[in-house]
Amino acid sequence: MIERLCVIGVGLIGGSLARALREAAYVKEIVGSSRSAEHLQKAVELGVIDRYDTDLRKAVQGADMVFVSVPLGAMAAVFESIKDSLDEAAVVTDGGSAKASVIADVRQALGSIPGWFVAGHPIAGTERSGVEASFAELYTGRRVILTPTAETQPAAVKKVRAMWEAAGASVNEMNVEHHDEVLAATSHLPHMLAFALVESLARMSEKREIFEYAAGGFRDFTRIASSDPVMWRDICLANRDALLNMVENFRGDLDDLTSAIRDQDAGRVLRIFQDAKAARDAFSG
Ligand code: NAP
Repeated sequence: MIERLCVIGVGLIGGSLARALREAAYVKEIVGSSRSAEHLQKAVELGVIDRYDTDLRKAVQGADMVFVSVPLGAMAAVFESIKDSLDEAAVVTDGGSAKASVIADVRQALGSIPGWFVAGHPIAGTERSGVEASFAELYTGRRVILTPTAETQPAAVKKVRAMWEAAGASVNEMNVEHHDEVLAATSHLPHMLAFALVESLARMSEKREIFEYAAGGFRDFTRIASSDPVMWRDICLANRDALLNMVENFRGDLDDLTSAIRDQDAGRVLRIFQDAKAARDAFSG
């Protein structure tokens, strides 16, 4: 049970956690904080938070759990602001999509990784943002990855794990580098490709006609290019090394397929597509 939860960044991810914990009756009071009083007032009106303070230092006072769910580029400044105002018993965790960068931000702000900080990442989301897009079921049956370091206190991990389980998620632990590699492959590279494809088509002179004839496949493949550009800019830059490795890997495979098509090597094209279909069918059950 959480006595007072402070959510810094009451958008899709933070707002959905607040809603889920409230529905589960797992939290007594929820305090929100971010830059805009207007956004936070909306969160109060929607019943997502009980009250707010745009001063991060005041917002975290007395909270036994602090959840930071701002874009990755804003994490360092948040940790810098709250570090001297946290309750002694507070556990702090985050929902950022890359983990090495957040851990580096915490180390930079506090000089070391405190035992009460537990880095985390819910593998759930939509292409929409803001508190209006949040909903209590976002984490139901979804995974959350925690990436504790050698410094992290087991009791803090236990508390964060229990919070996510109360929100309906199942929790796995992973080391930081492994998390960033896996997510570069399964999430960051696909988003980068979707943004790049839509941008590339949009620049073609016949763009109006192209989008007029865009059908299901195009929509399915590019839905994630409607995601928030600031958030994805931050993710790609924060997880740059792992992402660039994946891009190189993918470039090699794309070159292979391109050559097979250029050479009219029907057998090779078919084999690549059959292997991909089998892998996708196995994964989607
Ligand atoms: P979002 O809906 O845009 O919410 C972000 C929130 O952060 C907003 O409430 C914004 O409110 C606040 N914020 C932005 N800059 C801030 C700053 N400098 N100081 C304080 N508050 C600030 O984004 P989201 O989708 O919830 O993403 C939040 C985090 O979750 C990101 O780190 C992202 O990598 C991660 N994540 C996202 C997804 C996804 O699919 N969306 C999935 C997993 C993890 P104000 O405008 O009022 O400041």
